[in-house]
Amino acid sequence: MKKQSLARGLARIVALAALGLTAATQAAAATSPAATYTMPVYKSAGDVNAACDRMMSDLKSAQTALEELPGTSGTTLLQQLDAMYRSYEDTDGPMSLLTAVHPDKAIRDATEACDLRYQAFSASFQQSAKVLALLKQVQPADGIDRRFLKDTMDAFEDAGAALPEDKRHRAEELNNQISKLAQEFERRVREDKTQVAFTEAELKGVPPEAWKNAKRDGQGRYLLGMAYPVSGPVIERAVNPKTRERMWRAFQSRGGQDNLDTLSQLVALRHEYAGLFGFDSFANFAERRRMSGTEAEVEKFLGTVKGAVEQREKADIELLRGFKARETHRPLADTKIERWDVGYYTERVRRAKFSIDEEQFRQYFPSDASVKFVFRIATRLFNVDFVPVDEPLWHADARAFAVVDLATHQPIATFYVDLYPREDKFSHAAMWGFRNPSTAVGRLPAGGLVANLDRKGLTIDELKTLLHEFGHGLHQVLSHTRYASQGGTNVLLDFVEAPSQMLEDWVYDPKVLALFKEVCASCKPVPPALLARADKARHFAKGIVFSRQHLYASYDLAMYGREPQDPLKLWSRMEGATPLGHVEGSMLPASFGHLASGYPAGYYGYLWSLVIAEDLRTAFEGKRLSAEVGKRYRDTVLANGGQVAPQELVREFLGRPTDSRAFFKSLNK
Ligand SMILES: [Zn+2]
Repeated sequence: MKKQSLARGLARIVALAALGLTAATQAAAATSPAATYTMPVYKSAGDVNAACDRMMSDLKSAQTALEELPGTSGTTLLQQLDAMYRSYEDTDGPMSLLTAVHPDKAIRDATEACDLRYQAFSASFQQSAKVLALLKQVQPADGIDRRFLKDTMDAFEDAGAALPEDKRHRAEELNNQISKLAQEFERRVREDKTQVAFTEAELKGVPPEAWKNAKRDGQGRYLLGMAYPVSGPVIERAVNPKTRERMWRAFQSRGGQDNLDTLSQLVALRHEYAGLFGFDSFANFAERRRMSGTEAEVEKFLGTVKGAVEQREKADIELLRGFKARETHRPLADTKIERWDVGYYTERVRRAKFSIDEEQFRQYFPSDASVKFVFRIATRLFNVDFVPVDEPLWHADARAFAVVDLATHQPIATFYVDLYPREDKFSHAAMWGFRNPSTAVGRLPAGGLVANLDRKGLTIDELKTLLHEFGHGLHQVLSHTRYASQGGTNVLLDFVEAPSQMLEDWVYDPKVLALFKEVCASCKPVPPALLARADKARHFAKGIVFSRQHLYASYDLAMYGREPQDPLKLWSRMEGATPLGHVEGSMLPASFGHLASGYPAGYYGYLWSLVIAEDLRTAFEGKRLSAEVGKRYRDTVLANGGQVAPQELVREFLGRPTDSRAFFKSLNK
């Protein structure tokens, strides 16, 4: 999913929900405006290939024209580079989304092949010493040009444009291998066909909606796959520990040994890549282009988080252990919390302590109404509406919306949603910011939100995940940047999760949830007492959740550190050192897409961005639907995408430099 964009070596972001944090323990207007953008419809792989051929030929002509520009061309060079980026986005942008969601394997394969062709072009083009020399002569007109120029030069340098010839060739080879391996990794997770067979008795405790319509095997057992709405409830709700264990083990094995081998190769190749530039670790190579700056700075940050959550995790586990001992009528000393017990007993204790059952919320948050609800939040905060548009799309579940600015009644973006699980579809939750705006040429943005929700309704945790991805969506559709290369979520990787995580908090505010009534007349309001209990319960087991996030971040950092490490050995050692230990045979890294593509040496960005998100929330304290604060936030943080440094955007919005007080205060709640 990590795409080398033409103009920069940074990710063209595919921003995922944090693994395990938001999925937690596993878990209109009257008139229809013209859409500002229409998704291409491909009927066959041949269609995809033809579109790809056109893109490649356009890019090659653009490259030739660009290399002939005189050194005195001023910022024309920047405009030309952005035009190339846009032409890449026009074709490969929607294809990147289709790779994740298209039901036809031939089309998915063709879109992947097209992306590899583009990546190969980009790896070679960004090594152009000629273009780099031209870039060095550009006199930027203002801060926005200056930042775009610097980002572009960084991307050329990171692609190897300034390396001696032999290293330059190797860099190009490595980039191509990395793109290919990252695709293979993602494909194996997406197309994983693992099923586990259970008898009805074994599924005791699991809501029947999760399994009753599943196919059965010859012995009448239900065959359950890995999709969140199926595997999640089995792991969290099955009374029989063997049932939980079998599903947990299957879920932890997605991707398999092949993906462990692929990840291992990715780690080695990225290490070698950083070495070409004189860096002793890929983490240092990557971090220097992010807010953190260095691997050491990330380590320091993770150290402060660890201190704050370590004791709390132990206390949480003790609580679960005590509960399990009482429930199983065994002495405490003989009772151990297994990995597949965590979700189950967290849920049990939460129910006992706070009278909260996550399942209770589904009746209040029907899936379609939940989407209208998050749109309504945007209407209140940012004065925009999401109006359904009739457009042929890749699947009957997918929907298109025109984003209309209510101040001008003009469409400003297009937004797609594809919410329910199906075979071969991307299995997590993410937003594809596949088309970026450019005020210089009047181009409007588009994004696509992909999730795997339960059709019958959402839990409050799932509503939080939806809002998280919608936060990325807003960052995309409300951005208003000069260059497409710096639009939307094309921001520093350790900032990109701030706008999304900020919004997660909104689901506990009764004034916000009251918006359900506005979008769904038949929706029953969440009883205030239930919501108040949920608000208290959310702090429960925080030690476990944050320790897990901390472990993922530390693992990612160590794997991409000075000594390239075998992914599974390192994981079993690091997970083995935690209070719950490592389960022999489990292989979480085999499905950990963030590490393969998109977020290598960048998983810490979730916690890093959360510090900023908590600080941003302080401006909305007690007024989470304020149009006045919303406008300020939209105009400063969201509109500017990546064209201004994140520290500056946040300072302008908050009226002071950002700090970590709100984060640690919230962590200690
Ligand atoms: Zn995210």
